[in-house]
Amino acid sequence: MAGQVEVPDVRIDRAVSVPPHTTALIVVDMQQDFVHPGGALVVPDASETIPAIQRLLAFARTHGMAVFYTQDTHDPGDLEFPIWGEHALRGSWGWQIVGELAPARGERVIEKRRYDGFFGTSLDGELRKKGIETVIVCGTVANICVLHTAGSAALRGYRVVLPIDAISALLDFDLQVALRQTAFLYRGTITTSAALAAEGC
Ligand code: ZN
Repeated sequence: MAGQVEVPDVRIDRAVSVPPHTTALIVVDMQQDFVHPGGALVVPDASETIPAIQRLLAFARTHGMAVFYTQDTHDPGDLEFPIWGEHALRGSWGWQIVGELAPARGERVIEKRRYDGFFGTSLDGELRKKGIETVIVCGTVANICVLHTAGSAALRGYRVVLPIDAISALLDFDLQVALRQTAFLYRGTITTSAALAAEGC
């Protein structure tokens, strides 16, 4: 039986301003396999984050911010399959981004093969080309692809904002890990989807 651990407090910032022209929203892996019944690796709380992510999308689109999606993408025999089983198989139903959060015209979908949305992808180059300095990271799974993408962004010098109501994990412990690592290790800002405002608006 696992012993009890004390979870360090993480400060939740109730009012966060971001500069719209240098901020991007990154929606991580909100795909059928992770979100909806019938998916290969459903995170039960993921569907409950859809309204918060819709709020973030509306916020970003209203203020003309860049919006990126990551899409977990695997081919047969991928080295993740012995760990997780087959999921997010390129072209399958489970691979698709959920309809409730469909990308709008001009929004980029970055296919990724590993937890980290920057690993082997054009994400960093595309963010830099747009002059992005701050990334708001949401989606699933909090301590896996969200955390690896947020951490990878922080290691590249981006400011990271993580809205807690827009991320989901299999265990509350895992969610707390993501918050703690983002706040403590990566000096990110922990907030909620409703607490965000655009600087100068
Ligand atoms: Zn995967």
